[in-house]
Amino acid sequence: MKEKIHPTYYPNAKIICACGAVFTVGSTIKEMHVEVCSHCHPFFTGKQKLVDKSGQIEKYKARLEKRDKLFTAQKKPKKSHK
Ligand SMILES: [Zn+2]
Repeated sequence: MKEKIHPTYYPNAKIICACGAVFTVGSTIKEMHVEVCSHCHPFFTGKQKLVDKSGQIEKYKARLEKRDKLFTAQKKPKKSHK
């Protein structure tokens, strides 16, 4: 290898997942934090999992609920105008 052009290589770099799994890999970055890995990704677990960092799902659910309330309120029998 040519001198002084390669970044430091860590043969025991750690990949730490949000689910608690820790992997050891070779990398130029000593430690990495990830949100999903092969232990917890739905593709591998077969379970449904939602990664929602910014609360978009909660906002959407709240909006749905609000809409449903409006909808049921409007569903009352209408008086015909003719
Ligand atoms: Zn994981």
